[in-house]
Amino acid sequence: MKTIKSLDDLAINGANPAFSEPLHVGHPFVGDRKVFLGYVDEILDNNWLTNNGPMVMALEKQVAEHHDVKHCVAMCSGTVALEIAIRALKLEGEVIVPSFTFIATAHALHWQAIKPVFADISPDTHNLDPDSVRRMISDRTTGIIGVHLWGRTAPIEELQAIADEHNLKLLFDSAHAFGCTHNGIKVGNFGACEVLSFHATKFFQTLEGGAVLTNDDSLADTLRLMRNFGFSGFDNVIHPGTNGKMNEMSAAMGLTNLQYLETRIEHNQNVYHHYLHALSNIPCIKLLEYDDKETNNYQYIVIEISEDCKVSRDRLVEVLRAENILARRYFWPCCHRMRPYKSMLPAQSCSLEQSEIISDRVVVLPSGVAVDKEMIDTIVTAIAVLIKDSQ
Ligand SMILES: *Cc1c(COP(=O)(O)O)cnc(C)c1O
Repeated sequence: MKTIKSLDDLAINGANPAFSEPLHVGHPFVGDRKVFLGYVDEILDNNWLTNNGPMVMALEKQVAEHHDVKHCVAMCSGTVALEIAIRALKLEGEVIVPSFTFIATAHALHWQAIKPVFADISPDTHNLDPDSVRRMISDRTTGIIGVHLWGRTAPIEELQAIADEHNLKLLFDSAHAFGCTHNGIKVGNFGACEVLSFHATKFFQTLEGGAVLTNDDSLADTLRLMRNFGFSGFDNVIHPGTNGKMNEMSAAMGLTNLQYLETRIEHNQNVYHHYLHALSNIPCIKLLEYDDKETNNYQYIVIEISEDCKVSRDRLVEVLRAENILARRYFWPCCHRMRPYKSMLPAQSCSLEQSEIISDRVVVLPSGVAVDKEMIDTIVTAIAVLIKDSQ
């Protein structure tokens, strides 16, 4: 790897890039290929490819156990799991969501003719600000979707209190929070239900996939009906439904990857601590910290560039990309600044100040299996040289 000592050593100024292969945020993790292919043979031998097959059932059981929750209902994606959960909870009218989230949180509502009403976030946590949520409640509000952003849990107790007070349903988009805890309790146990994403780039992946976690037996029954066209046994449809089923190949990928959770958390935690230490002397950069007293998956290394920094956020991303470090702006612009929400909610932006500020400052750095300590040192040196020499 090249050494970066001054601005002249940066690829943006004509030097060779630090990495010959691109370093991604959310590099997919795939466990032992032989184990996966063994499962694939089993699936093909059984000729049971989908429709609640043995792999899906085994995956649901293990994911539910891992989260200490009664039910895991696996689905074909996190977005479809959100859509089905929203429908099973009979949400309508308006539902409050953060704007600083992946667009799927808002789309899952809009897709079902429910209006997402965007609330602001707390700048220290990037999670929903309960005061802002309160301000967004109207007589059409039926629910709140909290997002455990970066795997760090939303203000669950405050949101539950608001939901109870106004008779609203509360669910969580826990797409980032596989295996994470809140006061030692695993996600999946909060609100009416919680939705996981198993997309290829997430901490735990099944190619495409997702699940709803809940302790509510009757909600779980409804979710199972709805993901399978409302079929209750052969020839008997008792509920409106869609096709939200997970297939056996995806479940096989999941069963393969479940064996690595602990080693991956350990690796991610080391990566996080190494970044934390290496970035600590660089002016203008703040790494969003994890609470080591909780269980986290440490999947996201999130930095904020301070407002007074001589280097803009977009310049930093551009410089890193030239090095093949594919750092990313995240949730930029926020949901309310993208179509269709931009034109639907013209008056709202004034009250989403923190979301706009944070989405203009955040950069997510490569993490996970793709990086080691030496690579982190190179990434951080590139950032340090750029910022220090530009002061
Ligand atoms: C990934 C993600 C989703 C969507 O999950 P898919 O499995 O990709 O459909 C929803 N919300 C958040 C916050 C996400 O990061």
